[in-house]
Amino acid sequence: MEFCSTRGAHGAVSASQAILSGLSSDCGLYTPRTLPLFSESELSGLTSMDYRGRAAYVLPRFLPDYTSKELEAYVRQAYGARFSDRSIAPLREIDAGMHMLELFHGPTCAFKDFALQLLPQLLTAAAKKCGEERMIAILTATSGDTGKAAMEGFADVPGTCICVFYPDGGTSDIQRLQMNTQTGGNVQVFAVKGNFDDTQNGVKHIFTDAEAIAALGKSRIMLSSANSINWGRLAPQTAYYFHAYAELVAAGKIKLGDKINFCVPTGNFGNILAGYFAKRSGLPIDKLICASNRNNVLTEFIRTGVYDKNREFYLTSSPSMDILISSNLERLLFELSGHDCERVCGLMKQLGEDGCYDIGREMLDRLREEGFCAYFSDETATERCIKNIWDQHGYLCDTHTAVAADSYRQYREETGDGSPTVVLSTASPFKFAPAILSALGAPREADDFSAIEALEKLTGLSAPPQLKNICGMPERFGGSAIGREDMKARVLEWLVKA
Ligand SMILES: *Cc1c(COP(=O)(O)O)cnc(C)c1O
Repeated sequence: MEFCSTRGAHGAVSASQAILSGLSSDCGLYTPRTLPLFSESELSGLTSMDYRGRAAYVLPRFLPDYTSKELEAYVRQAYGARFSDRSIAPLREIDAGMHMLELFHGPTCAFKDFALQLLPQLLTAAAKKCGEERMIAILTATSGDTGKAAMEGFADVPGTCICVFYPDGGTSDIQRLQMNTQTGGNVQVFAVKGNFDDTQNGVKHIFTDAEAIAALGKSRIMLSSANSINWGRLAPQTAYYFHAYAELVAAGKIKLGDKINFCVPTGNFGNILAGYFAKRSGLPIDKLICASNRNNVLTEFIRTGVYDKNREFYLTSSPSMDILISSNLERLLFELSGHDCERVCGLMKQLGEDGCYDIGREMLDRLREEGFCAYFSDETATERCIKNIWDQHGYLCDTHTAVAADSYRQYREETGDGSPTVVLSTASPFKFAPAILSALGAPREADDFSAIEALEKLTGLSAPPQLKNICGMPERFGGSAIGREDMKARVLEWLVKA
């Protein structure tokens, strides 16, 4: 398996080259030219394994120039003591046929840990494989969860440093404090004036800025990305789709070969895309239900084939999904068009110029055939969903997960499809305690920490210690927000100082 850019300006590269560079220099995303295929007997083999075994089995097929032995060691290191649940990603059936896949038991309490606990090892190994001796500087835009998870992964990893940009006022207080209290000698954090899309665009500009690249090159620094445009982010995420399926088979809830649905709270389209690649690789998936919050550009796109980012941007209680430009959609367009780079280039050009494109009948039909469907949940429906699930099932879910659970409810009502469905539970509810309290009808608290305590009291559940411990930690970062036009200068100032 080799990787090519969705915009086609380059020949094929290896997985390690794709991971090392993050974004292709033609601004396209590296994508596998062909996908692996898992046979039914291979899937059957997964049922007797634990999370680590499954990940170590699946990942080499998506990362072909890493050896099984290497990956097994990385997996063991990544999915170990830093996860608070022994099964790493527990699957809980909360209602007939509705299963929650809990992906928030890692160090930062959101699903991004699954990729970002592994990425530093993938990246440093990639540098060795490619003979790269420069320092690797990771630049990352975050809508709240990526930044912290990336810093937890890369803090004090030799040969790397990491700079995170988050939209000022665009994250929850806890998310902001998680970032601003991060320890490590090689980390840096900036708040940026603007929303996530501005922040992400600002980072993309630095990647393609000749002056910045030259200045960094002189200091023997290369840039890479920890955003889900990096294949090293997507590959690890395929593993938990296989894991969820194997869990259902092992528990006797489905027979091997039965199809199941996944419902995914979506922002940058990375998580659900990993599910699509798992499906294309032979995992029996029927529907991939894309769930959006009030920023429902993807719902419209999947229903009509028209992507139109020219719309109002809302700050919601599910900030990690407050996105109007979903980067990873480009990889899906590449697949739907039959790897037609020219077509992808054209659509992306239109997106850049008009903020809008239409994929046309044929690609839209293909999108449907591939099992995609889409729903969204506004703020009121999301709150109601949190309360209903708590009242009826005694299960506390976070705001992002509730967007997905409410989308699944709509899907089920509309289609009557009762086949087993896995809802991806992407964050701990304690990360968004004020919003959860409000959904449960409890009074407002003065700050996020008293909200965490009030939520513990109200539900009888314990908050993850790593969230409670932030209270009282010194804020290392968090000066006034910088302008988007200053991002490059601040990065250079930080990196080229010595
Ligand atoms: C990042 C994130 C999402 C969205 O995932 P994408 O891969 O960007 O689509 C959903 N929920 C939470 C909690 C997140 O942190």
